[in-house]
Amino acid sequence: MSRLRDSAVTPATRSSPATDADAAERSRATAELVLEIATAASGERELEPILRVALDHLGKVVPFTGGSIAVIESDVLIIRAAVGPFEQEALGQRLGRGLGRSWQVIDRLEPAIIDDVQAEGARPVGERSAAEMRSWLAVPIVRTGQAIGLLEIDSTEPHAFTAADASLVNTIGRALAGPIELAARYDAERRAGLLREAFIGVISHELRTPITTIYGMSRVLRQRIESLDPDERVRMVGDIEAEADRLRRLVEDLLVLSRAEGGQIALAREPVLVAHVIRRTVAAEAGRWPDHELRIDVSRDLPVASGEETYVEQVLQNLLTNATKYSAPGSEVRVEGLVEDNEVVVRVLDRGIGLPDGANEAVFELFYRAPGAIRTAPGAGIGLFVCRQLVEAMGGRIWALPRPGGGSEFGFSLPVHAESDGSETTSGG
Ligand code: ADP
Repeated sequence: MSRLRDSAVTPATRSSPATDADAAERSRATAELVLEIATAASGERELEPILRVALDHLGKVVPFTGGSIAVIESDVLIIRAAVGPFEQEALGQRLGRGLGRSWQVIDRLEPAIIDDVQAEGARPVGERSAAEMRSWLAVPIVRTGQAIGLLEIDSTEPHAFTAADASLVNTIGRALAGPIELAARYDAERRAGLLREAFIGVISHELRTPITTIYGMSRVLRQRIESLDPDERVRMVGDIEAEADRLRRLVEDLLVLSRAEGGQIALAREPVLVAHVIRRTVAAEAGRWPDHELRIDVSRDLPVASGEETYVEQVLQNLLTNATKYSAPGSEVRVEGLVEDNEVVVRVLDRGIGLPDGANEAVFELFYRAPGAIRTAPGAGIGLFVCRQLVEAMGGRIWALPRPGGGSEFGFSLPVHAESDGSETTSGG
């Protein structure tokens, strides 16, 4: 990594080919470079070493700071390998179809250069990249006429890349398409395998607990129904109901998980009245968490969103359950519905335990649980992963942020439904 950084400090000096001999020499050198890269990458089964090999060689001729390989999975472009100072925040970054310059490169199947990220108002994802990245060069990775990903290099210097660099990196991208596709497939299979194993683990652990409780309590009720006092009976029936509800939610999440493992989740893009969903879900959750103060703040002119209502509700239920279970009884949980940049945005705000530093992305990973969360409440670490699958399958985004003053914000957005004209007719409560 440091070597790559050095290469940006000492820009390689390149002269433009003045004669035919120079041009021939440059083209021979390029061919050799591409061959070296392709040969070194061909034995690799992982994306990261492929990227490293490419950048190590490329660094001899093009000055840059770092780079990344992103792969298209369903409708999302995900950075699967990164090298350089932006590596940490870049890895795992996701960009929904159609968003940003990266998707333009993919859709047009053409390389693109941004000479000055800051002057051009381009907004790289990630705080550090947004502050320090100046130049960006990206080429599509194409297999049999179809884009499967994106190879990108960046620099902390403005105007770091030329059209000749773009053409060179494009050639490298073409040479690496085969190895990248293989490595991406291997990576996806490995993750699917982990998912499968974890799935079985979760089923045995997480499903057993509520089933044991429901079974045990039903037995006690049957055997001692006469001797139990009415309050105790009511409490036990309430516990059975709560555990059955927990089981139902878990099964719903597991269903989504099994569909995600099988590949793409396709959800409808129907008109959804988000204000209704918010009110209904909050009312149901308020019954489960009588000690919390659940508040709703929905803007009057909320447009109709696009998605599948059942799943919008499942996402909101998950976020609300988390907001309440990770915050103290008596504290306030607020649900906001608003419109922002042609998206319907729902935010769930709590004053709970908050997120560990740097965990804003990690919380959406399967089975991630923060140490503080493990101490606070039981859980399986699948809810947010499922939420992300669902929201992205409806063309939206989901995020987690620390909240000024303590607690967290969990939010998601859905596109405004194109064919539904106007806003929801009902105002927020
Ligand atoms: P679970 O809650 O079952 O652990 P989730 O996938 O819903 O699983 O959440 C994953 C992790 O994200 C939690 O374990 C916790 O560390 C963190 N998290 C989720 N919601 C909140 C919240 N509202 N406040 C603080 N941490 C949260």
